[in-house]
Amino acid sequence: MTDAGTAAAHPLVELVGVNKHFGDLHVLQDINLSVATGEVVVVIGPSGSGKSTLCRAINRLETIDSGTIRVDGQELPAEGKALAKLRADVGMVFQSFNLFAHKTVLENVTLGPIKARGVKPDAAKKEAMELLERVGVANQAHKLPAALSGGQQQRVAIARSLAMHPKVMLFDEPTSALDPEMINEVLDVMVALAREGMTMIVVTHEMGFARKAAKRVVFMADGRVVEEAEPETFFTHPTSDRARDFLSKIL
Ligand code: ADP
Ligand code: MG
Repeated sequence: MTDAGTAAAHPLVELVGVNKHFGDLHVLQDINLSVATGEVVVVIGPSGSGKSTLCRAINRLETIDSGTIRVDGQELPAEGKALAKLRADVGMVFQSFNLFAHKTVLENVTLGPIKARGVKPDAAKKEAMELLERVGVANQAHKLPAALSGGQQQRVAIARSLAMHPKVMLFDEPTSALDPEMINEVLDVMVALAREGMTMIVVTHEMGFARKAAKRVVFMADGRVVEEAEPETFFTHPTSDRARDFLSKIL
């Protein structure tokens, strides 16, 4: 656990004793989770287990009641400029693509860098085109999002996140709103990103992705991390009843 190499560097994302309630509902229960730089972690679990809340808490879209969340060693401030800056370190891709409907694909990708990072429009455009190329939609750059398929829109959303140069990317069920034939074109982009060394926390039930790209699967149920293991071990030999029951339903 503590060989010199890993002990020296702090985790890129670290949650310690994190708790969150919605009224009487204890949605995050004493969550401890560390993600190293370059590590890909898949979070899996039944609906309502707190996966989205976990992602939103890491990005400060939700506050927490107790515990600590650090990104690259820094605790997220509650608000203000410092929050905006740290939040830019955490890219987020949602189930619904959330693109700006009245901006072109290219504008969707350049807007953040120009407004929040102070990048000059020409430079932002150049990088955006490279990113759109990388996710395979450069030829759609001047269209409005609605003219694209769901799979293409989600790849634009990934490019838009990458344009902010995040240190970690969070994906919350990025393929669950897609028609089946479009799922792989999005997962392929994510696998490539993982292989390039991006640190990723991915909420997904796509076992193929977990097997190809993830170092670790974190299984959540009822607001708790119930089980953590390498993908192959988790899918073939889950140790908890909750995980066995869950896997029997999705396999
Ligand atoms: P998952 O993503 O694993 O399906 P969520 O994190 O979305 O789970 O939700 C966990 C629990 O918290 C669910 O019971 C959900 O209904 C509840 N919940 C989520 N967001 C809110 C909210 N803003 N207000 C009240 N309850 C919420
Ligand atoms: Mg969710």
